[in-house]
Amino acid sequence: MKLLEDKIRACGTVAPGGVLKVGGFLNHRLDVDFLDKLADEFYRLFRGEGVTEILTVEASGIAVATLTALKFHVPAVFAKKSETVNLSGECFTADVESFTHKKTYQIRVEKAFLTPAERVLIIDDFLAMGSALRGLSSLVAEAGATLVGAGVVIEKAFQPGGQALRDAGVRVESLAKVARMTDGGEIEFEE
Ligand code: 5GP
Repeated sequence: MKLLEDKIRACGTVAPGGVLKVGGFLNHRLDVDFLDKLADEFYRLFRGEGVTEILTVEASGIAVATLTALKFHVPAVFAKKSETVNLSGECFTADVESFTHKKTYQIRVEKAFLTPAERVLIIDDFLAMGSALRGLSSLVAEAGATLVGAGVVIEKAFQPGGQALRDAGVRVESLAKVARMTDGGEIEFEE
C-alpha cells in the first residue's frame, strides 16, 4: 500500500536490532484518520470471508483491530498479556515470545469470547518472527473456531515469520512489506 510506504518513509526510524519505530502514527500516537484507511484496506481484502470476529493482542494491535471491526460490524477481542481480576471465566492460552521485549509471556482469551462458530480475522501491527500471530492462531485452533486469515500493518519480510505462516496455510495479508532496513535509516519495500 503506497500510502503506508510513504508514511513509513516519512515518519519511521530504524533502531538497532532490526526494530522499526513508528510511534508517530501506529505505536504511541495514533493517527486515527490514517489508521482508518488501513482498516478500509483490511475490509476490502477480507470482506468476502464471512468474518464474525476480529482478534488481536494488547496493546499495539488494538487500535487497528478496533477500526477494522467497525468496518465489518463485528466485535474486536484482544488477547490479554497478564492475568487480571477483569478475567472472569476459563481462558484459552498460548505462549508468545516478544521480539521487541525479548521475553516470553502468556496470552489469554476467555473461552466465552472465542467460540467454535466464529470466523476469525487476526489483525496486528507488526509481523516479525511470527510468534504473536502463531500464538493468536493457536487460540483460534484451541477454540475450534475458523481462522480466515491475518491482516498485518507492517511485515518485516526479511524475518521469517510471514513465510512460515504462509507455508503453514495461513492467508497473511500485509499492507507494507519491508524488504531491508539499515541502521542508517534506509527502508526498502518489497514490490
Ligand atoms: P513477532 O511475534 O512476529 O516476532 O513480532 C510481532 C510483535 O512484535 C508485534 O505485535 C509488535 O508489537 C512487535 N514488533 C516486532 N517487530 C517490531 C518492530 O520492528 N517495530 C515495532 N514497533 N514493533 C515490532
